[in-house]
Amino acid sequence: MTEIPGLDGYIAQFPVYEYRIITTDDLPVEDRVRTVCKQECERYGSTWACPPGVGELAECERFCHTYPEGLFFSTVAEVRDVMDMEEMLATRTAHEEVTEEIRQYMAAQGSDTFVLSTESCDICEECAYPDAPCRFPDKMHPCLESYGIVVPQIVERQQMAYMLGGNTVLWFSLILFRFA
Ligand code: SF4
Repeated sequence: MTEIPGLDGYIAQFPVYEYRIITTDDLPVEDRVRTVCKQECERYGSTWACPPGVGELAECERFCHTYPEGLFFSTVAEVRDVMDMEEMLATRTAHEEVTEEIRQYMAAQGSDTFVLSTESCDICEECAYPDAPCRFPDKMHPCLESYGIVVPQIVERQQMAYMLGGNTVLWFSLILFRFA
């Protein structure tokens, strides 16, 4: 595994619950994940960060493999009521900010990066999809599920927590990286 200089110390300032460096050669990708997107997510087909806008599944998988490794991590947030979807989703913004800060740190160490993160994209008030190209392709993070990635399987393999219980929420991101 590639060591990212100073990562342990840098990451400690954020509410990162756990993190692992994983290899992409056995990244769990399955079509059924996208089926769930299609059947259960109201954002399906509404942004460039969601399927089908992100491209064909095989193409997404191939692209992931152009990065040999990834930093997979979770952040933890506390809410008053885990059943309050609005309150729960509001904590996603902080996770996205942490993800972008860590990505920038990794880029500053000399790695090319590509982020897969949570849900869909909320950068623009109204997404340009499908009539015009994404306005901020460098800032936009497609969601892990849009690439068919089976998050619970990575969590299980890496012996990480998927849920903590109580009034906590865990969010996950994968920052793919490669050093020249
Ligand atoms: S950055 Fe804007 S145009 Fe691009 S996916 Fe996000 S909302 Fe859509």
